[in-house]
Amino acid sequence: MGNPKAFLTVKRKDAGYRPVQERILDFGEVEQTLNTEDRREQASRCMDCGIPFCHWGCPLGNKMPEWQEYIYKGNWKLAAEVLMQTNDFPEFTGRICPAPCEKSCVLSIHRAPVTIRENEASALEHAFNEGFILPKIPASRTGKKVAVIGSGPSGLAAANQLNQKGHEVTVFEKSNSVGGLLRYGIPDFKLNKNIIDRRLKLMEAEGIKFVTNTEIGKDVKGKDILKQYDAVCVAVGSQVPRNLPVDGRDLKGVYYAMEYLAMQNKLIAKERVPAGQVIDAKGKNILVIGGGDTGSDCIGTANRQGAASILQIEILPKPKKLDDMENPWPEPYPVVLKTSSSHLEGCERRWSLNTKRFIGENGKLTAVELVEIAWDKDEKGNHIMKEVGEPEILKVDLVFLALGFVHPIQEGLLQELGLELDARKNIATNAKRETSLSKVFGTGDCVSGQSLVVKCIASGRETAKHIDDFLKV
Ligand SMILES: Cc1cc2nc3c(=O)[nH]c(=O)nc-3n(C[C@H](O)[C@H](O)[C@H](O)COP(=O)(O)OP(=O)(O)OC[C@H]3O[C@@H](n4cnc5c(N)ncnc54)[C@H](O)[C@@H]3O)c2cc1C
Repeated sequence: MGNPKAFLTVKRKDAGYRPVQERILDFGEVEQTLNTEDRREQASRCMDCGIPFCHWGCPLGNKMPEWQEYIYKGNWKLAAEVLMQTNDFPEFTGRICPAPCEKSCVLSIHRAPVTIRENEASALEHAFNEGFILPKIPASRTGKKVAVIGSGPSGLAAANQLNQKGHEVTVFEKSNSVGGLLRYGIPDFKLNKNIIDRRLKLMEAEGIKFVTNTEIGKDVKGKDILKQYDAVCVAVGSQVPRNLPVDGRDLKGVYYAMEYLAMQNKLIAKERVPAGQVIDAKGKNILVIGGGDTGSDCIGTANRQGAASILQIEILPKPKKLDDMENPWPEPYPVVLKTSSSHLEGCERRWSLNTKRFIGENGKLTAVELVEIAWDKDEKGNHIMKEVGEPEILKVDLVFLALGFVHPIQEGLLQELGLELDARKNIATNAKRETSLSKVFGTGDCVSGQSLVVKCIASGRETAKHIDDFLKV
C-alpha cells in the first residue's frame, strides 16, 4: 500500500470527456487522460482493504490493490504485468468496462470509489509507450492444433491463453477484420480500433494465425475443421438481434442497431459499404428504441452524423439515481440510472413507453405511435404492463432497434455440427465447457447469452484451461 491516508485526503478525480462541441465533430475517443502525477495520486486512494471486494466484483478477479500500489510507485511495468496475469486485454476493459470493481470498491461505502477502470487503461498505455509490452513467444510447442471460431473478446482470450500454453492456434473470422463486437459494434469514440490492432500485432508475433473472411459452416465445413484440429473452440457470439414485430416493421428507415453501428465502424475503417447499406442520420429525427448501452452508442453515432433530433425510449420505468438509492454496495451491477458520454452530447430520454406501430408513406417510415405504460404484477407475481393515457404519434425519419440479442445464429455452423442447445437456444456446455460434440468447446456470448467484454475474456480464459486439460490427456 502506497499512501495509507490518501483515501482520506485525496478526492476522486475522473479524467472527464473532451468538450461536447469538439468531440461530436469526430469519432476519436471521448475520454481524456490525467497527467501522470494525478494518476498516481488516484491509485494511492486504494485502501488495500482486508477483504478487497473489487476482486469479487471483477469477473476476472483482477488484483486491484497490488497494481494500484505499483501505479502509485510509478512502476508501470509491474502494474501492467500483474494486470495481464488475470486479464488478457486490460487496454480494452480499461476503456469500455462498466467497472463492476468500482461498484464493489469498499471505499464507495462512504466516498467515491477508486478510479480503477481509468487506472487500468493508464497502466497499459504507460507500459506500451515505455516499450514494456513485447511479444511473449512460447518457449516450446506441444504439436497440438486448436481452431478458434469467432474473434470477439472470448475467442481472442481463449486463443491467447492456448497459444501461451504452446498449442498451435488458428482463429477463423467471417468478417473482414478481427475483433467481433469490439470492432464492429463498439464505436470508435469509446474504443479506437488502433488499440485492437496493436494487440493483434502482438498476438500474431506470438504465433497465432488469423484467417478472416471465412465463415465456418459455410466457406469451410465445420466437419473439415474437426478433422484438421485436435480441439475446436466455438466463440461465435450472440448475433441474432431481438426484433420488434409491430405493424410497419418492414418500412424503410427501421433498422437494427447493429446494422447502423457496424456500417459506421466500417466507414471509419475505410471498409467497403454498399450504397444501399449506408444509413445517414444527418438532418433527421431519430428514435432509438432500447435504453441500454447499444442504444447509447446509436445516439453518439447519430449526433456525430448531424441528426436533427434524437429521442431514446425504454419500456421499463426510469431507474433511480445511485444517490437516491439505499447504498447497493457491494452489488457489482446495481440497477441505477446511467448517463453515458453520448447522452451528454444531446438527446431526449423517456421511460415506460411502448411502441405500438411504425407509420409510413410509400414504404418509408414517417412516424411512430407510442403509448405510456404502467407496470404492475398479476396474482402469480409476474410483471404485467398496462397502457395508460392516449397513444401519441411522433414524426421520425429513422428508428434504431437496440433491444439486445437473443441467441447465436443457428443456420450454418451450429446446425451443421448439430450442437445441442439450451432452452434459450444458446450452445449447451457442461462444467468443462464441452459441447455435445467431442473435442468441441464453447465460450463467450454464444454460451452465456449477451454479456460484457470482461465476462467474455473471463469465459475465454476458463474455456482455454479446459481445452488445455483435454489436450494434455
Ligand atoms: C453495440 C454494442 C456495444 C457494446 N458495448 C459494450 C461495452 O461498452 N462494454 C462491454 O463490456 N460490453 C459491450 N458490449 C457487449 C460485448 O461487446 C459482447 O458481450 C462481447 O463482444 C461478446 O464477445 P464474444 O467473443 O462472445 O462474441 P462477439 O464479440 O460477438 O464475436 C463473435 C465473432 O464470431 C464471428 N463469427 C460468428 N459466426 C462465425 C462463423 N461461423 N465462422 C467464423 N466467424 C464467425 C463473428 O463475426 C464475430 O466476429 C457491447 C455490445 C454491443 C452490440
